[in-house]
Amino acid sequence: HEAKKTRAGFHRFREEQRQDVAARLSLLGELRRALDDPGQLTLNYQPKVAVDTGELVGVEALARWTHPERGPISPADFIPVLEVTNLMHRFTEHVLLIALRQARAWLDAGHRVPIAVNVSSRSLLDPDFPGKVAALLAETGVPGELLSIEVTEYALMNDPDTAIEALHRLLESGVKGSIDDYGTGYSSMTYLKVLPIAELKIDRSFVLDIASNHSSRALVASTVELGHRLGLTVVAEGVEDQEAADALREIGCDTAQGYFFAKPMPAEALTERLPATLLTA
Ligand code: C2E
Ligand code: MG
Ligand code: MG
Ligand code: MG
Repeated sequence: HEAKKTRAGFHRFREEQRQDVAARLSLLGELRRALDDPGQLTLNYQPKVAVDTGELVGVEALARWTHPERGPISPADFIPVLEVTNLMHRFTEHVLLIALRQARAWLDAGHRVPIAVNVSSRSLLDPDFPGKVAALLAETGVPGELLSIEVTEYALMNDPDTAIEALHRLLESGVKGSIDDYGTGYSSMTYLKVLPIAELKIDRSFVLDIASNHSSRALVASTVELGHRLGLTVVAEGVEDQEAADALREIGCDTAQGYFFAKPMPAEALTERLPATLLTA
């Protein structure tokens, strides 16, 4: 009896695994097609704002995939699938090219808009990556100072030597490094000491309840102080309400992102919100 149950369980497990692999393979095939179809993979831009004035100081580019039949598919669902294949390299280049073309369009309209692009561990650790970024900057005529690259702690800890080398080479093009989702990975003092980065982005799990949770507030306050002492800009992500924004202002956090200020939006909508301070001098 037991054996039969176990065998049934095993078959069910195998069947689920098979479906999972099949689903991933079909998603990959569809991503490959999407990369050849400019309408499917686009970018939204979420404002990064100064905590004290609410003024826009830059944007984060966030990938959006609209499948022709299945509709929108979240990056949380397709990025992990890309992460295990070399198709990620094509995707990263695609995202960088759209973002830099947008930065170019804003420059042509008289706006210097700093843009942050998320780059996966796989792409950052690709030895060709810094060279590709330099080539795309040259192709679009965007100064490297306007671009920053957001990488997660995982990417940095996975292969720190290669990550450090890549960040140094990016800096030679003027491109800044930023640690995304800070505090959720293996936060280590060693890498804060050696990594050539310009920004820490505190993960939204610490920001969401900052006004009501004493521990979150203490962790954010000390991270802001740590970042500042290291000469880094500190960004809080996931600011959803006035209370969180107020707490961040009291703490002295420079920059924030979140639904309270603005959701990610298409480039045209963002253009309407560009402040005079980002006008080219
Ligand atoms: P992330 O880089 O940490 O981006 C922040 C995510 O939080 C975005 O989700 C954004 O829409 C969402 N968000 C912004 N404000 C709020 C808020 O106030 N509350 C809440 N609950 N969420 C907020 P999204 O766009 O779904 O992206 C999810 C993740 O997918 C990103 O996290 C990033 O890791 C990855 N991703 C997105 N676009 C790209 C890309 O072009 N390349 C790579 N490699 N990864 C990307
Ligand atoms: Mg990010
Ligand atoms: Mg983040
Ligand atoms: Mg995140």
